[in-house]
Amino acid sequence: MRANYKMQRLFLPDDLSAGVSVEIGRQHAHYLANVLRMREGAELLVFNGRDGEWRAEITALGKKFVSLSLHEMTRAQTPSPDLLYCFAPLKQGRIDYMVQKAVEMGVGVLQPVVTQHTQVPKLGIDRLRANVVEAAEQCGILSVPQVHEPAKLDRLLAAWEEGRRLIYCDEDAPGNNPLPIVSELAGQKLGLLVGPEGGFSDGERKMLRALSYVAPIPLGPRILRADTAAVAALAVIQAAAGDWCDNVDGA
Ligand code: SAH
Repeated sequence: MRANYKMQRLFLPDDLSAGVSVEIGRQHAHYLANVLRMREGAELLVFNGRDGEWRAEITALGKKFVSLSLHEMTRAQTPSPDLLYCFAPLKQGRIDYMVQKAVEMGVGVLQPVVTQHTQVPKLGIDRLRANVVEAAEQCGILSVPQVHEPAKLDRLLAAWEEGRRLIYCDEDAPGNNPLPIVSELAGQKLGLLVGPEGGFSDGERKMLRALSYVAPIPLGPRILRADTAAVAALAVIQAAAGDWCDNVDGA
């Protein structure tokens, strides 16, 4: 069932069940009262990634807190998506955008990957996680994708999960159309890998292409920015082998 896009959605860490009253802190209080200008009696949807989504009513509103009373469950909890999204960190603005788009496009886990040409020294994981929560609230999903600690590319590949294919966006891959390659992978556990602004090194490219579980794909005749490549690849994956694809189980 599609999410209700009219009502405001809020991610809360608390356990959620009928009749429960939840106190939320200053940060949310400011947002609901001053940004959304909500008042007592106003309703919103809350979710915590475990107990489904609930219709909640504001029963008290102060500067430092908001009290919510939960009424009924609007959507039952669904399992987290399985799609693993591996990406080389980008500069601040772009990475915020890319992380939000990955969540909207249905990834289940975000795995930052440090490659030879990665130009970002320090990755703000907390900021990425905040972007993920914001995107989850906006796009109507019920679980919040995890953001793992960064891993070096060779370490990631050395520990790669048995049975999972890795779709690797390779700007030197032959041809332009990724669809035939991705369609072949429908029904399999999938990962996606997008490189940094500076691209993969020749050594990395060679290492990736030598792995049997890696499926290099082209993304058309133009060089895309990494954040563009991410959205383009995710659209193809979801349409040909993921939860946009009507005939894949569990879609
Ligand atoms: N090497 C490029 C920059 C890389 S773009 C240059 O020389 O400017 C960043 C990443 O996006 C790449 O590592 C690749 O994963 C992906 N990408 C960009 N364009 C692509 C294309 N046409 N086909 C496949 N992947 C692409």
